[in-house]
Amino acid sequence: SIDKERANSVAKIKVVVRKRPLNKKEIAKKEEDIITIEPNSNALTVHETKLKVDLTAYEEKHEFVFDAVLDEDVSNDEVYFESVEPIVPLIFQRTKATCFAYGQTGSGKTYTMQPLPIKAAQDILRLMLNSYRNQGFQLFVSFFEIYGGKLFDLLNDRKKLFMREDGKQQVCIVGLQEYRVSNVETVKELIEKGNSTRSTGTTGANEESSRSHAILQLCIKRSADGNESKPARLVGKLSFIDLAGSERGADTTDNDKQTRMEGAEINKSLLALKECIRALDNDQGHIPFRGSKLTEVLRDSFVGDSRTVMISCISPSTGSCEHTLNTLRYADRVK
Ligand code: ADP
Ligand code: MG
Repeated sequence: SIDKERANSVAKIKVVVRKRPLNKKEIAKKEEDIITIEPNSNALTVHETKLKVDLTAYEEKHEFVFDAVLDEDVSNDEVYFESVEPIVPLIFQRTKATCFAYGQTGSGKTYTMQPLPIKAAQDILRLMLNSYRNQGFQLFVSFFEIYGGKLFDLLNDRKKLFMREDGKQQVCIVGLQEYRVSNVETVKELIEKGNSTRSTGTTGANEESSRSHAILQLCIKRSADGNESKPARLVGKLSFIDLAGSERGADTTDNDKQTRMEGAEINKSLLALKECIRALDNDQGHIPFRGSKLTEVLRDSFVGDSRTVMISCISPSTGSCEHTLNTLRYADRVK
């Protein structure tokens, strides 16, 4: 079918950059938009202002090219179409796919990530009612976070969870709540519930969630012979990961010991993630999962027929220039 053809042509790794518009606060502070994107191109330019020794300003341009570059006027629907939509049919054919949102706090990761699993679930449920009707497929949702190297269930009062490997390269998270869903409204409610349960840390500040990775998984299972009274086995998996704020990995010199440790863990996990994705692209046998909790948890999504989409979110403002360049360089290194 056309669906299958399109899915098989989906690249193993896709790197997408999304720029958000300047916000009110930035405009009030007279910050400028330093990112230009040529219409219908996959290139962007960062215009960095630098100072000469005599303190006169000059501009340094940095050009980057990615698989797709999405300007500030691009809708969440279009982001879905560019990133996840082509992968969905593959999940019925044993593929495991992962979509990451990477970027500094406030760059639009959650804004970008939150609608994607809802739209994906809608497409999955539609396929189950049409092409895969009466074949025993079932859809499950789970949602957990990694905070300070520990796992917490976001759909079960942040219950602490433990990871186990079954020796067949399958990762099992003991006690993780999985909800079977048959309509998209329920998926939406579960995601909203999970997001509001995300870590608020010791200070109770909302921004603490920027120190955790949130992992939402859509699992397709199937009972033998389409008979639902038989046990359901995993077919394919789609994971959506709202990563910790990339700037948090630099919190390794903070005065607070807890913050330092969390910063070190985030730094380690983002570096390990980059190495794992790079290893996927090189088709090397060895993938360095062991580097961090994040990559260990995702281990079974990196082996076999896998797909990875990295959505790098960037703020357009002058004040974010350094973080934006760091994000773009990270994205550049992934491919
Ligand atoms: P992060 O999760 O990376 O910390 P958020 O997703 O919370 O960032 O985004 C920060 C703020 O910017 C939010 O108020 C969000 O609604 C807004 N925002 C982010 N991306 C966009 C966008 N593409 N268009 C409009 N508003 C956006
Ligand atoms: Mg967020």
